[in-house]
Amino acid sequence: MKKTTTDFDILIVGGGLVGLTVALACAQAGFSLGVIDISEPSEQLADSHDGRASAIATASFRMMRALGVADALVEGEDTHAGPINQILVSDGQAGQAPSPLNLFFDSAQISEANDGEPLGYMVENRRMRHALHTQTKKQDGITWIAPAQVSDIEASDDKTTITFDDGKTLSAALLVAADGRNSFVRQHAKIGVTAWPCNQKAIVTTVEHELPHNGIAHELFLPAGPFAILPLTGNRASIVWTETPRAADAAMALDDDQFAAELARRFGDFLGWVKPVAPRWCYPLSFQHAKTYVGDRLVLVGDAAHAIHPIAGQGFNMGLRDAAALAEILVQARAEGRDLGGEFTLAQFESWRKFDNTALTHACDVFNKLFSNNIGPLKHARRIGLSVVDKLPPVRQFFMKEASGQVGDLPPLLRGEAYT
Ligand SMILES: Cc1cc2nc3c(=O)[nH]c(=O)nc-3n(C[C@H](O)[C@H](O)[C@H](O)COP(=O)(O)OP(=O)(O)OC[C@H]3O[C@@H](n4cnc5c(N)ncnc54)[C@H](O)[C@@H]3O)c2cc1C
Repeated sequence: MKKTTTDFDILIVGGGLVGLTVALACAQAGFSLGVIDISEPSEQLADSHDGRASAIATASFRMMRALGVADALVEGEDTHAGPINQILVSDGQAGQAPSPLNLFFDSAQISEANDGEPLGYMVENRRMRHALHTQTKKQDGITWIAPAQVSDIEASDDKTTITFDDGKTLSAALLVAADGRNSFVRQHAKIGVTAWPCNQKAIVTTVEHELPHNGIAHELFLPAGPFAILPLTGNRASIVWTETPRAADAAMALDDDQFAAELARRFGDFLGWVKPVAPRWCYPLSFQHAKTYVGDRLVLVGDAAHAIHPIAGQGFNMGLRDAAALAEILVQARAEGRDLGGEFTLAQFESWRKFDNTALTHACDVFNKLFSNNIGPLKHARRIGLSVVDKLPPVRQFFMKEASGQVGDLPPLLRGEAYT
């Protein structure tokens, strides 16, 4: 291979949750990286930046351990990862008991495949961001370039060159776009997307409740969309309350007492009293999938490639799988003396990730459409469907393994194997 001099092996545009994970995975494998973000790192680390919590699947959490990020999630006696031991999915109406025809997943039923681990862990995004920043500072090979505004990108036969708005330039063999659903890099490369709105918004907040949740995640399907109660550490839960845009805007406009009362009506009293303890956040939901994940010396990862409904808590997990697959493909390319940004290398990324992501993005969309309505026959069918899956152990186990991220061709990091 002809040796070209570049500033870095890899440049990443977007230092969010997925971009930083790509940086850690590739730096641990010995590559040099520049991470460019439009915002100040201190802005991203402010508690006011992101009120969400993410369900991190078992395999994804193994990757976080392999990258040292899980260690950074522990502060003294405190761990910021709450185990998800069980998941209860049911159909219902606000203010009424859930349908008895439900679906129950228990980590004990796949304990062998899971090495006795839970189905996943709930981690607040602000904690995950802190842990990723802490670990990127410890890891050799990562240079932060932020805040910085990219104005142009030009790929040639042997490198890609980024120009910033102050006229400075940086080059690398490969550019990774991790700049989120409105990706500047994707648009600059003229990569189109398949997209449609979900006609829903998700209200997110954190609540405290009286009784312990015992690590049980609840997904209650209400007519306007899912209402999820997700177990955080302590007697706390992250709420993802999906509504039509009009109802979500109205709920956001309620005063604190009115909001708490509406939330409690949906929540029920199975965990005793419940009270919101964090600001409310509102996220418009839409489906978006890039037509291709690769361009000239370019790959798309995370929400820049695929942004999905949070119904199954899979968006970040998909981005982590992109990161693990990309690191492994680049390690193999280096071992075989291939160009990191060459077409053959990039085609392997596309074929490894596109099929998996296409299946999951569409499954989440169909699932949301099926459950977010009050049409009588559909309601009846889905209640029966839930209870049928519940009564068939092999099918239930398949769904549990899927939720814990353990199906398909797993790259080493997702098996918990570090590069060093
Ligand atoms: C309500 C809700 C709940 C969710 N729950 C879960 C869950 O439980 N589990 C799960 O797996 N997923 C979940 N998700 C999805 C998950 O949050 C996203 O998939 C994930 O945050 C995507 O991360 P990302 O790094 O790809 O993008 P982003 O988080 O959008 O990060 C993009 C980064 O790029 C930077 N950037 C943007 N533009 C530029 C530019 N022009 N130049 C340089 N930098 C730029 C930004 O500053 C940012 O740092 C949820 C999503 C929602 C809406």
